[in-house]
Formats: sequence, C-alpha cells, structure tokens
Amino acid sequence: MKTVFTKKEGVWMNFGDTKNIAHEFIYLMDNSDLDWGTEFKYFYRITDDNYIQLAHRLNGGELKISAQFRLRFKNLKENIIFIVKENIEAHLPYEGFPVFEKSTVITEKEFNSIIQTIRDERNLMIEQAIAFQTPLIDYLREKNLNPRPSGNNPYSWVAKCPCGGNHFLMIVTKTDNWGCGYCRRVGKLPELQAWLKEIKIKEDQKRLSKMLRELKENGGLSKETTKWWLKRY
Ligand SMILES: [Zn+2]
Repeated sequence: MKTVFTKKEGVWMNFGDTKNIAHEFIYLMDNSDLDWGTEFKYFYRITDDNYIQLAHRLNGGELKISAQFRLRFKNLKENIIFIVKENIEAHLPYEGFPVFEKSTVITEKEFNSIIQTIRDERNLMIEQAIAFQTPLIDYLREKNLNPRPSGNNPYSWVAKCPCGGNHFLMIVTKTDNWGCGYCRRVGKLPELQAWLKEIKIKEDQKRLSKMLRELKENGGLSKETTKWWLKRY
C-alpha cells in the first residue's frame, strides 16, 4: 500500500524519507538550471491514498520529495503538469526558470508551455501591481530602495532592505504593510519612516565619532568627512 507521510499539500515541506520507497518513483524528466550549473532529475509517484508526489535528484544526489498534491484531474498527465508548474513557481524567487533537457513523459513543447503560462500569469500580476501604487511604494522610491512588483500577486512588491544587507523587504500594498524577516521588522509607512530615521542616527553617530577621532589624531578632517559634514548640516 503506497501512502503519503503527511496529508499536507504543497512545495518546500517535509514529505518524509525516501529510503524505503525510492523504487516506487517513476522517471519523469531531466531539467537544468543554467545560472547555477545544476542538473535535476525528476521522478513522480502516485499513492493509493490519491496523491501525486514529485521528487528530484540534484546532480546525482539523494532522492528528495519536492512537492505533493492530491490528484485533481482524471488524467495522469494533467496531474503531472500541475505539480511541475507548482514546483517551478515555488522555486522561482531562488532559481529562476529551469530548462527542459529530456523526458519520456512530457514533451519539450508541453514543458515550455508550462513556463509560458507562468510567465504570462506573472506579467499580469506585475501589470496589476503597477496600476495599484500606494504611499508606501512612493516613499520607498523616494528613498532609492528600488521597489518593484514581485509577480506573486497583484499586491506583492519587494524592495531593498534599508538596513543595507543583501536581502529584500516584502510589501503588501493591499494593506500597505512591509516586513523584513531577516531584520525582524514589520509595520506601515510611519514605522518605516521611524526605522529609516533610526538608521540615519546610527550612521551619524558613527560619522561623528570618526570626525572627532580625525580631529584628535590629525588635527583636521579628511575629505570624505568634510564632504559628509557640509552635506549634512
Ligand atoms: Zn532587513
């Protein structure tokens, strides 16, 4: 009896170990990711409790279950196309679009039409997001934090995190909320304004102590500090 480890549906979850069930997976396709130079071999498994699972081997490594959904369609191919699409979408922010190499189950044309559907859906989301801009987006733009639609839904935007780190701020324009999971900060426009002020004060304190050190040690200011001082006050 083939059953699932968890009844949950989705991508990026713990779907259990494949050690004892690896032989139950059927070959689906080879994909590559040109940006990362990685090769993925995909497999699928249909369970007796009516699920489809998608598993992969990365560069010949261990077999891991990547996604799992209930069987939604009568036709096997439609279920396969559904889970492949869900999996690509969930990985998009990190990996970009995969490239079709070969398959005995779906054709290159079918694979590329999955990619095209995702592109079309995202472009539509981006268009809708651009048509619905808010004071928070205006403010992020004014502060050069490069806000742009994520393409995930009509209200989803990303921007540079003001902390200076190499990660994103997530914005939901429907409620005009923002958040950074990395910095553990959330809020609306006033909280962002307050945070930017806080960052500026910290930076000023750093500059001021550098200025005092320069005065004490060199009896004068460096060009960089002078420039900052004149611009600041
Ligand atoms: Zn952050």
